[in-house]
Amino acid sequence: MKKVAIIFTGGTISMMVDERLKAAIPALSDEEIISKVSGIEKMTDVEVIHFGSYPGPHMLPSMMLELSKVTEGLLDRDDIEGVVITHGTDTLEETAYFLDLAINSEKPVVVTGSMRNGSELGYDGPANLSASICTVCSKASKNKGVLVVMNNQVNSAAEVTKTHTLSLDTFQSMDFGPLGIVDSDQVIYYRDRKDGIKITTNKIENKVGLIKAVAGLDSEFINYLIDNGYKGIVIEALGRGNVPPAMVEGIYRAIGLGIPVVIVSRCVKGRVLDSYGYKGGGKELRDMGVILGDNLSGQKARVKLMIVLGVTNKIEEVREIFEKDLYKKI
Ligand code: ASP
Repeated sequence: MKKVAIIFTGGTISMMVDERLKAAIPALSDEEIISKVSGIEKMTDVEVIHFGSYPGPHMLPSMMLELSKVTEGLLDRDDIEGVVITHGTDTLEETAYFLDLAINSEKPVVVTGSMRNGSELGYDGPANLSASICTVCSKASKNKGVLVVMNNQVNSAAEVTKTHTLSLDTFQSMDFGPLGIVDSDQVIYYRDRKDGIKITTNKIENKVGLIKAVAGLDSEFINYLIDNGYKGIVIEALGRGNVPPAMVEGIYRAIGLGIPVVIVSRCVKGRVLDSYGYKGGGKELRDMGVILGDNLSGQKARVKLMIVLGVTNKIEEVREIFEKDLYKKI
């Protein structure tokens, strides 16, 4: 029988409430978590890899790169069917999307976690872990890219985001809903994901900044990033991909210095496009040289730009990767 590798990185799934602090901290060992998943031995053999006990907010992009290499090493082995990774839910979508871009394998990779810690009634770690193992064991999960399985829903890492601070149903694919569900240990897929691009790299660019556009924002934050050596800038723009006019000058300066500027929307659904021609509108920005980031969230566009800048810093090459599907006629 082939094995499922489980890489534990930390998160609430490995936490308990500390009596003194009256707050959750890392406490459960990998073995303790696995022992709570009843009947796991009937499903598959597992191999446990301890990557760390990091809360989601302690995760760094450099650790995501390291995790991608550890995962690739496991996927290369004939005796491994696929990989489950446990993770803090706060940055789970960033790590999952990083892995989705960086790992090129037909074998399933599933990222999961829990919203309730081991001290709480209704601790959802074991259920999420068993649904994730079922997902890896399903033949239908091949070639689906990296998946996020929580609350019996199977989502693409490229689409999913954490939407609620507390709810077990927090992970949602805002635009099109989940790819499928896990029902009675069976995985049922209802749709495919959009083709994912793969970017093989051994290095990433850490100095990529993310700015959220708000009414009345000017170029000060953009100038700060430029003056502090940032190599890439992501702007969560307004609506369809527009910014307040006073941001234009900073964007112009960044592009003039060869710093790629990627525009996405602060709206939770939908793509950006160069639809508006007024000052600060998407048309002016694109004519100026900004790159449009499709329907990615700001945090995902940042992860993608960090990886892409590990491979090339030529604005036109970066644009080709980001805008691949944007103007495609079918
Ligand atoms: N704050 C926690 C973390 O990301 C939340 C979780 O894991 O559910 O580590």
